[in-house]
This record gives sequence, structure tokens and C-alpha cells, in this order.
Amino acid sequence: MINIAIVGSGPSGCYIADMLSKKVADAQVDIFDRLPTPFGLVRAGVAPDHQGTKNIVRQFERTFERDNVRFVGNVNIGQDLSYEELKASYDVVALTIGALCDRKLGIPGEELTGVYGSGEFVAWYNGHPDKADLAPNLNSRGIAIIGNGNVALDIARVLAKSSAEMDSSDITAAAQQSIAASPVQDIYLIGRRGPLEASFTNAELSEFGELERCVALVDPAQLPDSLPEGLDPKAARTIEKNLDTLRSYTSNDADSKPVRLHLMFCASPLEILGDNGKVSSLRLEKNQVVDGRAQPTGETFELEVQTVIPAIGYRSEAIDGMPFDQQRGIIQNQDGVVEPGVYTAGWCKRGPQGVIPANRSDSMAVAKQIIADLEANPPAGERGGYGTIDSLLQQRGVKQVSFEQWQVINQAEVARAENGKPREKFNRIDEMLALLD
Ligand SMILES: Cc1cc2nc3c(=O)[nH]c(=O)nc-3n(C[C@H](O)[C@H](O)[C@H](O)COP(=O)(O)OP(=O)(O)OC[C@H]3O[C@@H](n4cnc5c(N)ncnc54)[C@H](O)[C@@H]3O)c2cc1C
Repeated sequence: MINIAIVGSGPSGCYIADMLSKKVADAQVDIFDRLPTPFGLVRAGVAPDHQGTKNIVRQFERTFERDNVRFVGNVNIGQDLSYEELKASYDVVALTIGALCDRKLGIPGEELTGVYGSGEFVAWYNGHPDKADLAPNLNSRGIAIIGNGNVALDIARVLAKSSAEMDSSDITAAAQQSIAASPVQDIYLIGRRGPLEASFTNAELSEFGELERCVALVDPAQLPDSLPEGLDPKAARTIEKNLDTLRSYTSNDADSKPVRLHLMFCASPLEILGDNGKVSSLRLEKNQVVDGRAQPTGETFELEVQTVIPAIGYRSEAIDGMPFDQQRGIIQNQDGVVEPGVYTAGWCKRGPQGVIPANRSDSMAVAKQIIADLEANPPAGERGGYGTIDSLLQQRGVKQVSFEQWQVINQAEVARAENGKPREKFNRIDEMLALLD
């Protein structure tokens, strides 16, 4: 038997497992996750009101249901088992641990109460156990979100929607209540560069045209009249669509709805100012964009906000013994190869970019490399695989969660949902494990 361990059950891990469990003869594929719940950011990142995107889990479930695939949930590699122990027990190890540690703005005031990285904020409203106790201060009339990508748009939309609009989502009840109770009136979405450089997709940007309690606003002076020459035609089409949407927001009436979303461009945060340890405003500097790069103009301004959410990217978390590129915040690798017998794919390999399908092609390429290496150097069959790991985990009192046990948790979440929500997530590991006793 060829023993294969995959660390991380997000899209990248699932795609590799799918291919290896089908294509490698006599393979046993064990997928570890530090949470009792599978699917990575499909569960804990993708916006709770985008349930359609989460349908991909049906495909992943079919992989887990195969006879030669095992989910080993609630096992943290680096804590419950070391990287060295894993390598010694498996013929192949694939690291697909994602990247969800927030990058910092690196400006004064980031330590104030009221500043939350997008990773932790998203994890909180999506019921990730790491952030169950975040309790962000949303007693704010002004909220600034820094970043011009889809994650920033997701956060703005979740804050802007009415509670009724979130009833078809799987946002946690606590987050839904906290957002509904917020006195927010102004949400500022701030990009360092201009609308041409924003990495929004149009579907996400257009959603702000249809919200019940929030109106999107854009200063027409921030929009160019035409596109620069020489753009790639595909990129030009996306930008043109986004500009059309942004133009349609320029004539909106700011007083037509109780919450305003201000889409602002060409500004960089300089300092978060505080009062008694809490955020009171954000000081920014206007930029001009030259050859696609933001250049400071020296002109500054302030926004009165009590909450600041930087959405400027993520890093992976280094695990002891694992070759790690500290500067880039990814696992050190050469085209997915970390060291003999160890591979990586997904966000921890190439950085936190790309939607779910982008991980499929990346994982396929790495799986092909694994198959080629196994053919060139067939394993001697000396490694103990799950048998060895299972006894270590039992000795250490680690309670593993199988795929069947995850389904018990899944059904309990669906059963306890109210108001038409698809599920009410458990956001504490103890609560989940208690269901399995
Ligand atoms: C806020 C947000 C919204 C997004 N929305 C969309 C969207 O609408 N559509 C779309 O297509 N894409 C979206 N994406 C992108 C998509 O989520 C990623 O492309 C994808 O999840 C990356 O997959 P991954 O497997 O590399 O990492 P992840 O999905 O992060 O999976 C990593 C897994 O590894 C596990 N893990 C980590 N460390 C350990 C450890 N030490 N031991 C064991 N397990 C560990 C984690 O628990 C996790 O399950 C979004 C991303 C974010 C952040």
C-alpha cells in the first residue's frame, strides 16, 4: 500500500486527494485537518450569503466517501503530531494548509481596539472556532475597510445587508445580531490605487446596486473617462464592466437609504487615531497613480471611523520543521516540491491569490508530479501510515473526528438552524465534540 497524507482539507487538499485516490494504485489517502470540520475556506472564508459558491463541497464529499480516503479531523499538525512524525509515517505528504494569518498595515494605531484583520473578521462571522470570542466592536457609525479586492467587498456587503437579507445565509447568529445592532451609517471601502487597478469581480461589485438598506456612492471625479491604451482585451472588458457599475453609483442619492457605502480610491492609510485605547478616526494620504503604482501626493485627510478592517492579504502559518519562506509567508517550494516525498499546493504554496477553481489546476499539476515521482521511485512499503499515527494520537489523548462524525456535526447544524437559514454553525470545538460522545 502507498500511504499518502494530505494536511489541510480545503479545496487544494480535496483536489489532490481526488486525483491521487483515483490514479495511484493501492493508495490510501488520509486528509488531516486541525478542525473537526472539513473544506477549509469554503466553510470559513467564502461569504455566508454566497451559498451557491459553497455547493462545491458536494464534489469534495464524494472524494471523502471513497473507500481509500479517510478524514482525520481535529488533528493539528505541528501540535498533535509533528511534521517529522508525519514524514516518517507516510510515503507522500502534501501540505495544503492555506493562508489565513492577516498581513498588517504597518502603521501607528494598529493595536487599538476596533482594528480587526479581514482574516479574523471573516473567521468570526463565519463561525471559525479560532475567532469565536473576537466580539468586534461594531458600536460604530463609521467603518473603514482597507483593500480593493473581493474580500473587502464581501465584508462591506455582510456589514451593509439587513438582518433579513442575511437570513438565507449561514452567518453565525451572534454575528448577525451584532451587525444588526450596529449603528453604522458610513462604510468606507478604500483602495490605494485607482478603479482601473481594483481587483473586484463585477458580480460582487454589482450586488451593491440592490441592497435593502445600503446605497453605494462613488465620486465621479475618481473615475477615468476612458481606458488607457494597450490593456489586455480580457482585463479591459472586466475593467470596463466595473467602471460602468461604478458610474451607475455616482448618481445615487446619499440620503436614499440609512447606510452609505463610499467606494474610495487613491488613498493610503497613514495612522489610526485613538481615544482611550479605541479607534476614533483614520488619517489617510491621497495618492496619484503613475504607471499602475500609487504615489503619495502629501495631501492628507481624516475619516471619522470607530472600526478599521484591513483586507490587504494573508500569510501562511509556519509549522515547526517545515521549510518556510518567512518573507513571502509561504511554504518554501520549487513548483510544489518541498523536499523528497513532501509537496505543497494552494494558498500556502503560491500565496493567498486565486478563487477555488484556481486551486484545482495547481493541485492537478502537483498531483501529476507526485505520480511521476512515485513511478520513478516506488516506495519500499516500510512506512506505517495511519496505523502508526493512530497509536500516537491515542497515546496523546487526541480525539480524532472521522468523516462520518463530521456528518453528525453537519446534520446537527442544519437541524438547529432558524429563520430559514441553511445551518447554524457550531463555532466551538468542544460543542462539536460533545455531539459525538
Ligand atoms: C474571505 C474569503 C472569501 C473568499 N470567497 C471566495 C469565493 O466567493 N469564491 C471562490 O472561488 N473563492 C473564494 N475565496 C478563495 C478560496 O477560499 C481559496 O482559493 C481556497 O480556499 C484556498 O484553498 P486552500 O485549500 O489552499 O486553503 P484553505 O481553504 O485555507 O484550506 C486550508 C486547510 O488547512 C487546514 N490547516 C491549516 N493548518 C493546519 C495544520 N497545522 N494542521 C492541519 N490542518 C491545518 C485549515 O483548517 C483548512 O481547512 C475566498 C477567500 C477568502 C479569504
